[in-house]
Parts: sequence; C-alpha cells; structure tokens
Amino acid sequence: MRFFPQTIRWRIQLWHTLLLVVIIAALLAAFYQNQREISYQALDRELNSPITRLLPRMERRREPPPRTRRVPRPDPLDDEFGPGPGRGPGPLRGPGIEDGPSERRQEDRGEERGPTLDEVVEDLAEDDIFVIQWDRDGELRFASGNAPEDLTPIPEEVPRGGERLTKRTVDGYREVIHASPGGGFVLVGTSIKPFEDNLESLAVRLVGTGVLIVGGGFLVGWLLIGRSLKPIREISDTAHRISDGDLSDRIQIREDRSELGTLSAVLNETFEKLETSFEHQVRFTADASHEMRTPIAVILAKSQFALKRERSSGKYQEALQTCMDSAQHMRTLTDGLLELSKVDSGEFNLRKEEGDLEDLTREVVRMIEPLADEKQLTISCELSPARMKFDSQKMRQALLNLLSNAVKYNREEGEIGVKLTSVDGRVLLSIRDTGPGISEEALPHVFERFYRVDKARTRGGRSGTGLGLAITKAIIEAHGGRIEVKSEVGVGSVFELRFGERN
Ligand code: ADP
Repeated sequence: MRFFPQTIRWRIQLWHTLLLVVIIAALLAAFYQNQREISYQALDRELNSPITRLLPRMERRREPPPRTRRVPRPDPLDDEFGPGPGRGPGPLRGPGIEDGPSERRQEDRGEERGPTLDEVVEDLAEDDIFVIQWDRDGELRFASGNAPEDLTPIPEEVPRGGERLTKRTVDGYREVIHASPGGGFVLVGTSIKPFEDNLESLAVRLVGTGVLIVGGGFLVGWLLIGRSLKPIREISDTAHRISDGDLSDRIQIREDRSELGTLSAVLNETFEKLETSFEHQVRFTADASHEMRTPIAVILAKSQFALKRERSSGKYQEALQTCMDSAQHMRTLTDGLLELSKVDSGEFNLRKEEGDLEDLTREVVRMIEPLADEKQLTISCELSPARMKFDSQKMRQALLNLLSNAVKYNREEGEIGVKLTSVDGRVLLSIRDTGPGISEEALPHVFERFYRVDKARTRGGRSGTGLGLAITKAIIEAHGGRIEVKSEVGVGSVFELRFGERN
C-alpha cells in the first residue's frame, strides 16, 4: 500500500522531513542531556558546599548516644511533597542534634563563633537539604529532621579511608557522601523531584520546539521543492501542448544558468528544429504538388484537345511535343525532389576522391558550350590547378547547375567568366554572368527550394524548377564548402564557391 503519491515532490519532501526529524531529535536530545548534566552538577555543588560548614561543627560535637527512633523514608515522588512528619526543617532528631558541650564551652568562654550546627542544618533544611552523619563504626550519629524516614545505611560503595567524596542517586534522592577526617561519614542530600520536574518541563518544551521546527521545515521544504520543480512542470506542460499540435509553443526560461534552464534551452532548440522541419515538410509537400499540378494540367489539356476530334498531323505533333516537354519537366522535378529528400534523410553520401577541380570545371564548360553558342555567349576561363577531395559526379552536377543558370539567365551575346584559384589548400571558384542580375529582396531566397525570381516566366515551361540552386548548395556544403551570390541588377551575378576554409 502506498501512503504517498509517487511524485518527485513527495519523495524529496519525505526524505527531507525524515532527515530534519533525525537531526532535530539528535540535537534536542544532546541539548537535554547537557542541561541535565549541568543541573546535576549545580545540585552536587549545592550539596557539597555546606560540608565545610558542617564538618568542623560535627567534629566539635560530643560523641552522641545512639538514635532511638527511625523515621520512615517518605516517598520522594509523592505529589504532596512538602514538610511532613520526619521531614522539613523541624526539630533535629536524636540526642546528637543538641549543641555539644564543647560548643557550649566555647559560648561560655565568649569565643567568636559563626552559626551553630543547628542553625546551619536549619538553613539547609529550608532549601530541602538534609544531613546525616555516621561515626567510624557505622553507627548513626546525627540526622536532620527532614532526613528521609528510612535512613540510608552507610553506603556500601563508600570506600573507607579511600575516596573522600561519593555522589549517588538513590530512591529519588541525590546524596553527596563525605568521609570526615575523624573517621565516619557525612551525607548531604535532597529530593530530586523538583529537578526532575524542571527537566520534565524542559523536555516538554524541547519536544514542542522540535515539532515546531519540523513543521516549519516541512512547510519551507514544501514551498522550496515546489518552486524548484516548477520548471519541470512547465517543461512537461509545454511538451504536452506541443504534442497536441501547438508547435510554436516554447518553455519560458527564467533561470537560464540553472540545470533546468539549460535543459529548457536545449528543449526549446529541439522544438524549434522540429517546428522548422515540420514547416519545411509541409511547405515542401505543398510546393511539390503545386509544381506537379501545372505540367499535369498541360498534359491533360493538350491530350484532351488532341482527342476531341480529328486533327491534322501537325497539330498532333505539336500536342505530343507539349506533352513530352511537360513530362520532361516533371522528370527533372522528381529527380530534384529525390535528390533533396536524400539530403533531408541524411542519405546524401559522397564518394570523395582526390582530384583536380580544374579538370572538372573545364569538362563542365565544354558541356555547356553548345548552349552558350545558341545565345552567342562568350565564355572566358581563368583556371589554375586546384587539388582537393570531391565527389566528381555530384560536383559536376553542381557546376552544371551554376553554368546552365549563367547561360539561361544571361542576355544574348553576353559573357560568362569562370575563375578558379587555389592558395594554401583554399579553393575559390567563381562563375560570373552578364544577365539581368537578382534584386536585393530576392537574393537571400535564391537557394531556397522552389524559389524562382520570375515565376510567371518559367512556370509550366521547360526551364526552371527552382530546385537547382538548393541542390547545388547541399552538394557544396556536403563537401565542407560554402556558396555565396553577389548580384547587381542590370549588370549580372557572381556565384562564388569556397572550399578548404577553416570554420
Ligand atoms: P531554376 O530551375 O528556376 O533555375 P534555380 O534554383 O537554379 O532554379 O534558381 C532559382 C532562381 O534563382 C531562378 O529561378 C532565377 O530566378 C534565379 N537565378 C539563378 N541563377 C541566376 C543567375 N545566374 N542570374 C539571375 N538569376 C538567377
């Protein structure tokens, strides 16, 4: 059976409270023990101090006759504790209590003297302290009136002639026993009930204090743990909302230096990437289907037109040509999509081999020359050897994209400049054209998928898919390089590829 919910909060709370209880109990117990010892030491000092006044007076006392009556020892823990028969300051019992002749002789001689033994004993009795004396033979010589009725016999444990002082607690009395110089023993004692009562009330107060401290600690702990766990609750709430479809939600980071702050930041980054990739996916699918729609519509319209009624062979040929162009466009599109899906899924593996980029560039320029000739373009090459590791097939595709764009988006009789340099392993390849250029607003988007500056001009036609530069960028980056474009409207554009740069 589980008494507490299995939450982290309760678990921490439970351990924290348990620890607090153990520490507080140990501290209070130690404090109580210490107080008890201090009280008993003070009591012992109180019982010990009158001995200097008692011993000389007892020594002067004449040998007393034996005691006649024994007073029963009262119950020290009796609530009715107070002066009763045989207790209290009342008259001293036994003949020994009378002032001895030596004392009387002193008085007769008019010698200076302090209080008599009776007065000292009476003083002590007012403080509930009793006095008992035995002679060297163990015979009771003296007992104050408040001494317990059941007089304590000479304690066994008092070594005669050995230790001069013994302390003990017997039947609710604290007793200090002194060996007197003339043999025999003097016992000074008192009831410990008032002390025990005091200690008991101290214990009650300490327990109350302990309960208060533990209660306070529980409350403070509950609040602190709640506060520390709040970010975790926020994280899980946000994760729930995101899994329910609100991809734009983010965790509020308050303490970005704490462990949970770092975790929240990492999770927020992950959510950001998830959202971006989700948006990409949605846009990509929408764009792809949108791009497909036009050529499919063209094929459908042309074939319907051709089939509606008998046509001349020229018309059939024209319809078939249009269908073929559209199919060709769709194939380019699907090839591009396939290529990009490989980039996205991480299957875009390169087969890099050591080679010279100069050779590859010359080869691609040669491939593009027939197209350039159609537009009467001049291609000028300024190439130097550039050895590096690259996947020749992919790199060829990238260079073909860039050069075919330089042809496609160039003016009649324009120019194309290709320059390749290599310094200390850093390779720079630039492809310059004299086309219309790209506007400043369009420039940051040209590497985006399906982006075309002039959509109307290319849509449905055989020309652009808007995927060429996106694929080129993916290829260059997979080689550890980067691609940049600079352009001036009406002057032309330059695409620069850089490889082998640190960072
Ligand atoms: P497309 O298949 O349309 O050529 P790209 O990804 O190769 O797709 O190019 C994206 C767009 O960038 C093009 O539609 C074109 O508008 C613009 N562009 C690319 N290269 C050039 C260039 N050399 N000069 C001017 N515009 C260019």
